[in-house]
Amino acid sequence: MRFNGFQIIKQGLTGNRGWQVHWRDPAPKDEYDIIVIGGGGHGLATAHYLSSVHGLTNVAVLEKGYLGGGNVGRNTTIVRANYMLPGNSEFYSHSLKLWEGLEEDLNYNVMHSQRGIINLFHNDGQRDAFARRGNAMVNQGDDAILLDTAGVREVLPYLNYDQTRFPIYGGLYHKRGGTARHDAVAWGFARAASGRGVDLIQNCEVTGVDIEAGKVAGVQTTRGAIKAKKIGMVVAGRSSQLAEMAGFRLPIESHVLQAFVTEGLKPCIDHVITYGMGHFYISQSDKGGLVFGGDLDMYSSYASRGNLPLVEHVAEAAVTLMPMISKAKMLRSWGGIMDMTPDGSFIMDKTHIEGLYVNCGWCYGGFKATPASGHCFAHLMATDTPHPAAEKHRLDRFVTGRHIMDEETTGAQHNLH
Ligand SMILES: Cc1cc2nc3c(=O)[nH]c(=O)nc-3n(C[C@H](O)[C@H](O)[C@H](O)COP(=O)(O)OP(=O)(O)OC[C@H]3O[C@@H](n4cnc5c(N)ncnc54)[C@H](O)[C@@H]3O)c2cc1C
Repeated sequence: MRFNGFQIIKQGLTGNRGWQVHWRDPAPKDEYDIIVIGGGGHGLATAHYLSSVHGLTNVAVLEKGYLGGGNVGRNTTIVRANYMLPGNSEFYSHSLKLWEGLEEDLNYNVMHSQRGIINLFHNDGQRDAFARRGNAMVNQGDDAILLDTAGVREVLPYLNYDQTRFPIYGGLYHKRGGTARHDAVAWGFARAASGRGVDLIQNCEVTGVDIEAGKVAGVQTTRGAIKAKKIGMVVAGRSSQLAEMAGFRLPIESHVLQAFVTEGLKPCIDHVITYGMGHFYISQSDKGGLVFGGDLDMYSSYASRGNLPLVEHVAEAAVTLMPMISKAKMLRSWGGIMDMTPDGSFIMDKTHIEGLYVNCGWCYGGFKATPASGHCFAHLMATDTPHPAAEKHRLDRFVTGRHIMDEETTGAQHNLH
């Protein structure tokens, strides 16, 4: 079933009884050509592009819980292409272009809203850094405008400009940046892949990886053994555990990142804003809730909830930047498990085991990468060659030290990213 205006009118006039389920619920087969482990955004996007671009449909996505129950449904939905370093710059540029055509590609409303992102800066050093980043973005073919204080005040009049410890010197404005509805992204990719014949298997946890003579043979799962010629691991915060099942270690630490939402308010914040002097960023969802977050909880954990000191820290930064927020009631907070790499950039590569591929290390920024991650990983798995947009994201950079992409210039310590 395709979604369009005619369907909405037809279903509306016939009691909405004709809508079909979004995806099938098949039992696992004994064998597939390709198994994708992880039914998050990236796993589902991989399945979509394997089937749509490469015509590969004897594919299963194995998800231990329900589709979209991981980080793809827990993030703060920011989509942008404002990375600076070669490797990241072209990849996120590729991703934003895919976002811009995604709703047509999937025939699904993912509520992609290019409302613009403004990264605020508060001293001369930060201004220089953002000017440099903006130039890199423009050179890459993306958009960036450097605003001074008056320019920011015109767009964001409600910030605290006058009585603040950290005056706002200006902001880097990325107009094509914005947000998307996270669940809808997972559902749209799932529906498209399932429609082409990919099996999406929920409640199916992978508990072991079968390897014979240096080559993958299949997986052990809570729903039995399944054979496969190729296996892609796309499990975000659980990547180290999956790698351990296959007998190797990844340069990944798992950390908690929290997010918060207030009660629904009338529209008051129509951009995404990041605070340069505190760990705080914010946007307003289409339901009206102010969605915001800060930094990692700063210790390794697999718990998908966070701790109160970080809540206090984020709330302090929020009130410093925009005192008006102190009147909003916080509705809920939650956490997700981040797969942090030493250089803060992702890994997409083959492994030393034939037929086993890894896609991980998205840190706190993988939502915006979802379409390009799936697109490039499907390319790698289908053709055994890296996609040009992701060819620098090799696993061996952490062994050789060459081609490290330390985007945040925080050095090789996971919890500083
Ligand atoms: C609070 C928060 C805010 C964030 N904000 C942003 C943002 O604004 N912008 C942005 O770009 N990024 C953001 N991110 C990061 C982004 O959400 C992640 O980088 C991205 O979603 C990770 O990829 P994924 O969607 O495939 O992960 P997930 O949705 O976590 O998918 C991995 C899946 O693998 C499954 N799995 C794990 N182990 C197994 C197993 N053994 N067998 C079977 N299945 C398994 C899990 O159940 C899960 O469903 C944020 C993250 C959090 C937590």
